[in-house]
Amino acid sequence: MSLGASFLEQVDRAFDRAARHTGHDQTLLANIKACKNLFYTSFPIKRDDGSIEVMHAWRAEHSHHKLPTKGGIRYAETVDAEEVQALAALMTYKCALVDVPFGGAKGGIRLNPKRYSPGELERITRRYVFELTRKNFIGPGLDVPAPDVGTGPREMAWIADTYSQLRSGELDALGCVTAKPVSAGGIRGRVEATGRGVFFGVREVCAVKEDMKALGLSPGLEGKRIVIQGLGNVGYYAAQFFQRAGALLVGLAESEGAIANPKGLDIEAVMAYRKERRSILDFPGATNLAQREEALELECDILIPAALERQITAENAPRLRTKMVVEAANGPTTPEADAILGKKGVMVVPDAYVNAGGVTVSYFEWVKNLGHVRFGRMQKRFEQGAAGRMLEAVESVTGRRFTPEEVERVAQGASEEDLVNSGLEETMIGAYHPIREVWKRHAGKEDMRTAALIVAIDKVAMSYQQLGIFP
Ligand code: NAD
Repeated sequence: MSLGASFLEQVDRAFDRAARHTGHDQTLLANIKACKNLFYTSFPIKRDDGSIEVMHAWRAEHSHHKLPTKGGIRYAETVDAEEVQALAALMTYKCALVDVPFGGAKGGIRLNPKRYSPGELERITRRYVFELTRKNFIGPGLDVPAPDVGTGPREMAWIADTYSQLRSGELDALGCVTAKPVSAGGIRGRVEATGRGVFFGVREVCAVKEDMKALGLSPGLEGKRIVIQGLGNVGYYAAQFFQRAGALLVGLAESEGAIANPKGLDIEAVMAYRKERRSILDFPGATNLAQREEALELECDILIPAALERQITAENAPRLRTKMVVEAANGPTTPEADAILGKKGVMVVPDAYVNAGGVTVSYFEWVKNLGHVRFGRMQKRFEQGAAGRMLEAVESVTGRRFTPEEVERVAQGASEEDLVNSGLEETMIGAYHPIREVWKRHAGKEDMRTAALIVAIDKVAMSYQQLGIFP
């Protein structure tokens, strides 16, 4: 099966398509599009059985218009120079869309993490960080990694520790990486942030009556039929939030296969079942699909690819039976598929916007690390006391006493998690409407991806214009 353009060509083509509408100078556009730094290294590691293996690793910094650069680290067999450059470029546009003051970056090591023991993965991670540190490709003011496919808080803690050891005494060293465990300098709410952000984004998109009507859908999430591909960090939490909002999960796909139930699948029950059986297949009450990819073709209102890039292609796009595609994964739709979906009237909510919740909360974590104090620590009790005093004043004026439940509900100070979730919600809501405005301006001619990229390019262009050229 031909996938058409490569992932990097896919991202660059989307850029070119949007760039035409911006009116910026061609050289400025070429500068924005180009990857600024690309680092490659190979290094040996000792396997547990004493054998030696050579690893191949990359880090791409796409844009330095704002520093540090920011982007995940992927452990997968697909990782190569092109893949990290494509993902780094997406990070630049994503950060611009949600006003996170970073340039885009991405890194990765070519390996299948399932084939290595935790000890081997730790040695690989630490050596990678050593190489990045030597070449100035990591640091709280330079380049700040985060998780991506195949990595998580465990790897982030190893990264923070290795960097801190190498830069002993550097006060802000913990800000060299985000999505760390909370006890290692992380922030509450980061683990769920991308999935929660996908939820906030889709809730905002679905709240616009006129857009829903054009798709033949009612506004709101209640009762919407959702299919999710990939139940990892992003897909699992997104599924949780959609289910809580009253949506129906009618299809779920994982690497071992896919299941469907038009009456809805309970995500917690499916995950508990998978933990026990190591598979979602044969889940009680659900139908197994013959191929995992068939999940993408189930009839639904919202299809959420949350696994990997290039899943919706020219080959399967004609068979999709959804009204909306929500790109929780990075780059799941090829340009050829985009064109087909456009003709079918399917709304594609682009990755650069809808999965930006992770980097948004990573930004909050970085700010916390530089501030060296937990959000909410200074004001939580003060806010609680102030609200309590206000209630007492109301009681003395009205002569009515509040019940303990009423006092508890109102007289509360914000915790770190409250502040993080509130900042994330504000960001996802605030970022959608400028994109929608541009999309409406190009109604019928351009899709939401192009609109999002127009907004992003304008912001990056403004930075470059203000900064000028050195020397
Ligand atoms: P993850 O490794 O935690 O989860 C991916 C899941 O997809 C895994 O459970 C894997 O088994 C499954 N999967 C792989 N191939 C599949 C297939 N063909 N069919 C069905 N399932 C399949 O990774 P993640 O962090 O959840 O990232 C998923 C996507 O979201 C990636 O494109 C990533 O770049 C993007 N993303 C992640 C974050 C983040 O904060 N983690 C932020 C933004 C975007």
